[in-house]
Amino acid sequence: MQNISEIEELIKLISKLPGLGPKSAKRIVLKLINNRDELVKPLAKTLVEVYKNVSRCKICGILKSSLLECNYNNCKIVEKKYEKICVVENISDQWSIESSNIYKGYYHILGGNISSVGKKKEDLLINSLVERVKKNKIDEVILATSATVEGQTTAYYIQDSLKDIEVKITKLAQGLPIGGEIENLDDGTLISAFKNRSKLNINST
Ligand SMILES: [Zn+2]
Repeated sequence: MQNISEIEELIKLISKLPGLGPKSAKRIVLKLINNRDELVKPLAKTLVEVYKNVSRCKICGILKSSLLECNYNNCKIVEKKYEKICVVENISDQWSIESSNIYKGYYHILGGNISSVGKKKEDLLINSLVERVKKNKIDEVILATSATVEGQTTAYYIQDSLKDIEVKITKLAQGLPIGGEIENLDDGTLISAFKNRSKLNINST
């Protein structure tokens, strides 16, 4: 292989993507340079647009286009459509739950969990969750954090943050495999964890 620095840099970057190593990165790069106009050009344009325009909402954590306000029927609740908020760690968890079709309601994406490397509770969107629950008179907060120590610590902290609000708090069923991250669960497990979720606080209706 010739040493072309641009190509080497591209291989290096692509091999950082999940599920790809240097070998598959090389195959992807070859495919790209053989399809300059069909792939490289639109890909470069789209990447720039994503970088410029797509970010996480600072209130609810979902992905949004900066060209639009975060309404998506999620954050700026103009007309209340749902009674529930499902709290997850990452966007990939939201996507898994959406594709299982078990849940219809608002989402709140924390942006990680409390003990993950370098993440403290101040880095997570917990204060804005409390505000959303209060402001929108939500009936139920479903804690769908991972069945890991970090995920459970995060769930406990959220439960404590919501203790002064009249709202039912539930947690996904214990049937989740220990160490199970929401995004890795199959639909069947996810559906039964939602159906059998347990109530955590006793003083609400
Ligand atoms: Zn939002």
